[in-house]
Amino acid sequence: MIFDSPKSPSFKKDRRGWNKAWEHDLALLYGSSVDFAQTRGQPLPSLFQLARARGTIPEDHITDKSAMHLQEIKRYICALQRKLTCKAAKSFAEDDFEAKWVACSALEREELILEGLVRTCEIAPEYEDQRRWAPELVLDRLNHASGRGYIDLLKTLLLQNPDNLVEFNSVPNLVYDQITAIGDNPSLGVVVYKKQLDTDRIHILTKVVWNILLAFYGESEEIVHVKSQQRGRDDKRHLKKILEHPGLDAETQAMIKARVQESSKLWQRSERCCASCGLTADRAGVSSLSACQRCKAIGRVVFYCSKKCQVENWKNGSPPHKTICGDKNAMIDAVLAPSARKSVPAGKENSEFGHPRRGYIRSPALLHQLDNLKKEPETDYVFIQPAPLCDFTIKITKPNVRELFRACLKRAACEHAPREVYQMFLLLKSAAISSPEYGIEGLKKQFFKEYGYDIDVLKAEYDP
Ligand SMILES: [Zn+2]
Ligand SMILES: [Zn+2]
Repeated sequence: MIFDSPKSPSFKKDRRGWNKAWEHDLALLYGSSVDFAQTRGQPLPSLFQLARARGTIPEDHITDKSAMHLQEIKRYICALQRKLTCKAAKSFAEDDFEAKWVACSALEREELILEGLVRTCEIAPEYEDQRRWAPELVLDRLNHASGRGYIDLLKTLLLQNPDNLVEFNSVPNLVYDQITAIGDNPSLGVVVYKKQLDTDRIHILTKVVWNILLAFYGESEEIVHVKSQQRGRDDKRHLKKILEHPGLDAETQAMIKARVQESSKLWQRSERCCASCGLTADRAGVSSLSACQRCKAIGRVVFYCSKKCQVENWKNGSPPHKTICGDKNAMIDAVLAPSARKSVPAGKENSEFGHPRRGYIRSPALLHQLDNLKKEPETDYVFIQPAPLCDFTIKITKPNVRELFRACLKRAACEHAPREVYQMFLLLKSAAISSPEYGIEGLKKQFFKEYGYDIDVLKAEYDP
């Protein structure tokens, strides 16, 4: 059977062996080429075959609990991608992360990638389980072209507008899409199941990419186990189903039983968190969370840390809690509805720079720049220097020059605009020359990182 090789080594004992077993299984399903241009040449299994093999019936996924769980994970991914965007943008802009990563030896990068994978799978068995939906997470692919595979994946996960609180980035993958295609007229349960897989996929991709970045900087995160709506139970059910397979030897059975136990212990240790801010009682600084009574009455678990969070979630939750409170069908409808809240709530949008145009992807360094400018609206530009050197904030005093500069920036932040980029360079040139240690070379370097243009090439074109 595809996947579920219960005999593969545990990451706790042999992370390379464990990873190899996973990569073997992933290659069986998705093919092994780095870009997935070709699959393994056999018919792909369908979503239904995979689900059945795992003891899951997709049609059953139309419950209030699975809908609630889906929203929970979505909120979590949004928050994680915001954190990732912030940290990565700063690392690219201030620390030359890309150059440092590429300069590592292949072996060093492999160790960091394995560390990221292990850290993620250590959190809970369900994380390891999700790896099956993310064929990108294999050494060859992430280490491809001196580690640019990882850099590319990281960049696709960065939020282009971090003010957008309700949407996260996806990572397209043709083979995954083919396998999880649900055909015409799927039942509602199947639609929910497919959404669940899609979020699981982005969840594990984001989590591993995040943990690799933390590992690179020798940092780690305190892990808080949060009780999700149904996952703990699902996982246990799946493991029990494997136990029923005929022909399992005693050793394997013992291993699976240990995992079932580990899984229930984890569930007991886990804590509830606030449905609005995501904090546990401990972190929110309260003695306990309070349950929404109307939801409790229908067997749904919704907790808040404070009145403030409850009010916020009531009005601005995704979906607003007032639209689903105490109503199971409304929650399922909300999940099935084509995202009505695609756009950012009014007033929260980064209106100054807006959304980049279709096909234009802001570089991490540019995201960092825009973030700086948003925090200090009086500033027109920030010359970024590697720590511990301090950055220079630039304010353009002449109103008409300032207006011209702002207009160029607005365009360059949303589309390829070489002429505007060059114009900005000219306007900032004298400020750069008079900034000690930074200078004209510093500005050229920074512009290359932010906009991808070589100023000397632009000069030859516009100013020969
Ligand atoms: Zn809260
Ligand atoms: Zn409620």
